[in-house]
Amino acid sequence: MKVPFVDLKAQYVSIQGEIDAAIQEIITNTAFIGGKPVNDFEAAFAELYGINHCISVANGTDSLYIIMKMLGIGAGDEVITVANSWISSSETITQTGAKPVFVDIDPDYYSLNEQLLEAAITSKTKAIMPVHLHGQAVNMDEVMRIADKYKLPVVEDCAQSHFSEYKGKRVGTFGVAASFSFYPGKNLGAYGDAGAIITNDAKLAEKCKMYARHGALKKHEHQIEGINSRLDGLQAAILSAKLPHILDWTAARIHCADTYNSLLSAIPEIVIPKRREQTRHSYHLYVIRAKNRDGLANFLKERNIETAVHYPTALPNLKAYTYLGHKLVDFPVATAYQSQILSLPIYPELSIEQMNYVAESIKSFYS
Ligand SMILES: *Cc1c(COP(=O)(O)O)cnc(C)c1O
Repeated sequence: MKVPFVDLKAQYVSIQGEIDAAIQEIITNTAFIGGKPVNDFEAAFAELYGINHCISVANGTDSLYIIMKMLGIGAGDEVITVANSWISSSETITQTGAKPVFVDIDPDYYSLNEQLLEAAITSKTKAIMPVHLHGQAVNMDEVMRIADKYKLPVVEDCAQSHFSEYKGKRVGTFGVAASFSFYPGKNLGAYGDAGAIITNDAKLAEKCKMYARHGALKKHEHQIEGINSRLDGLQAAILSAKLPHILDWTAARIHCADTYNSLLSAIPEIVIPKRREQTRHSYHLYVIRAKNRDGLANFLKERNIETAVHYPTALPNLKAYTYLGHKLVDFPVATAYQSQILSLPIYPELSIEQMNYVAESIKSFYS
């Protein structure tokens, strides 16, 4: 049996007619950039989130950068984010001219430890960026309480948490704005790069849109210098075709996670992911901690089971951040976990046979 880490083909096949028709329509109408397909996707995504504004952009890195840049963050400022994430979270802080300030992860939930947040705030702090990593919601009650106390905007990185909820409310609707990625492997994935910003702040929405479109809301009326960050028509049409299925796909991911939980919970050498109470985890990733992680990963690979590590090096420990002068002891949990975490295959189309095979293989590795 084969268990790929992601299986984009399986999803395409399940909705091939809808995808092919959507692509064909764009080509027939040569609606390659902007126009109705892009506006329609923005409206549909905003509607699903019950939010006023959605600004589509080229990818989920640009969306983070644009939000922070348009909040006025720049040189001399600091933005707080989490020590374990994809580099976009911190890289975009640097792109604005500000300095990324890292907070260690929560030992149970793998995302920003809210108990360490307040201590990271200085007079230079200009924003807080929680990352709902793996699809698990950050403790937003605490993050928002601290942010309100210091009057700091919260920018949510929702690249891995489409339709995750915290206490019945979708993540991405707590802060001043949220950033989404539609990279092909994300829970809602395009067939290329794509991203979006959502916000209820009309002024911020207009600024972000202007900045992403060369500083102009109307052609040739450049009020500022901006950048070129657009969602193209083909990607917008593909995303619109997928949108009616996303809640079912999210439910299927949760079902897979529940199945893994029951299959794996009795194996003493691994720790299964804990779900934060009163949340809906969208399981972009199913991350275990494993004894002899590399040995297990190699064993699974020999059995045609692909796994991955998110991420092998915590952000502050990357070469890119040596200039910040952090020591390994500064982020003890993120540092300890980087050699223990292992992401198992999870996607809506994953079969019970495949999950059984993964579980049996893990058991035989340790026996
Ligand atoms: C994927 C990802 C991004 C960036 O998205 P791109 O569309 O690849 O630019 C940002 N943050 C996190 C946490 C991600 O996983």
